[in-house]
Amino acid sequence: MQQQHALKVYKFGGASVKDAAAIRNLVEIVRGHAADSQLLIVVSAMGKTTNALEDIFQRAHAGTAYAEPLAVLQAFHEQVAQELFADETPPAAVASAPATPTLDHLFAQLHGQLARVVPHDDYDRQYDQIVSFGELLATAVVAWALQAQWLDCRPLLRTDATWREGRLDWPLTEQQVLATVPPLLLRGPVVTQGFVGGTADGVTTTLGREGSDYTAAIFAYCLQAESVTIWKDVAGLLNADPKFFADPVRYPEISYQETIEMAYYGASVIHPKTIKPLAVRRIPLFVKSFLDPAAEGTRIGDCRHGLLAPAFIRKNGQCLISFESKDLTFISEENLEVIFGALAQARLKINMMQNSAISFSVCTDFGAYRLDKLLDQLRDQFTIHYNTGLELYTIKNYDAASIGRLTAGREVLLEQRTRQTLQVVCRGGSEFIR
Ligand code: ASP
Ligand code: MG
Repeated sequence: MQQQHALKVYKFGGASVKDAAAIRNLVEIVRGHAADSQLLIVVSAMGKTTNALEDIFQRAHAGTAYAEPLAVLQAFHEQVAQELFADETPPAAVASAPATPTLDHLFAQLHGQLARVVPHDDYDRQYDQIVSFGELLATAVVAWALQAQWLDCRPLLRTDATWREGRLDWPLTEQQVLATVPPLLLRGPVVTQGFVGGTADGVTTTLGREGSDYTAAIFAYCLQAESVTIWKDVAGLLNADPKFFADPVRYPEISYQETIEMAYYGASVIHPKTIKPLAVRRIPLFVKSFLDPAAEGTRIGDCRHGLLAPAFIRKNGQCLISFESKDLTFISEENLEVIFGALAQARLKINMMQNSAISFSVCTDFGAYRLDKLLDQLRDQFTIHYNTGLELYTIKNYDAASIGRLTAGREVLLEQRTRQTLQVVCRGGSEFIR
């Protein structure tokens, strides 16, 4: 019987597990679907846990005290568990899932890992060892709440040692997932972590911030799932983030290609790496609201559509860096090679770039540590100016009205347009766009 059931992957992000009420809602959604599908459930860290872990890690790495925020994080998880399970953690009812670790156990591990952080050493590798705990903790709580099987995905999702952005070994991951997951799914829903993976030596890696969507796509690809559903606090894929734009519209259906491009430009609704594995195996991706699970949402898949509503995409925390050669000669290909090499080494991603006679400008995500690394490397050769705290706006499928709406009253530092896409870098601190 079970074998005939469709295999679906559900992904629940931080907002959908932010407190006990949210987790109860998740349980309702899953219970409503578990009867007619095999469900693999990918869960992100609860609420703002990843940010809190980043802060704790930064303190440990700087050699400063982190006990207080760590205690707050622990109390938060214990409080949620307390609300869900009263005093039983893990609840006796889940004796069938003995592999689920307790919060005590996970926090003891986290304390141990933090004690091993070597201040000022190897930031990215150590970051992964700490920040990955958000997903371990969240999945333990959700697995109890669902009385489902808890799966540690780190031994299955094999990555290289590109810390904070592990690159997947697809063939090996597929082989390992296929060997492990289908028999578990036959027994009932499986809960596993988004965002994390592991190296051949068994060291934890992460897949990049907001990477849990990607994890859902990796599992769906390997298991040839029928579909993936990302449960969010918005009605589907919208043409703009409702936090910053008035009157967003929902796309009922949209192609993989359009979605990849939007994600590339920074649309925060889906992690950019999510779509490709799904498109390769033609697995549709549904984006639905956990607040209104019966509503239609968005279907992303193989489809054709006419003109789409312009999509507004906002990236904040941007940095505009311009390089001038010290002797005021033109920026040559040799100069560019050096600049690109240094950007790649500092792992600063270019979101937009422009060349003029004697200066070359790039807009990147700001990271103090990465920027310092870049400046150290290029300072001797170039005069470098930079501005931080900027915003990069992209309008995909722009028209005159959408440009007017975006740029009215805004100081534009850099602008670029192609046939379909307009990008502007503006000063930050901007208000709501109407
Ligand atoms: N918890 C991770 C983050 O906040 C991964 C995710 O949410 O997808 O970045
Ligand atoms: Mg998250």
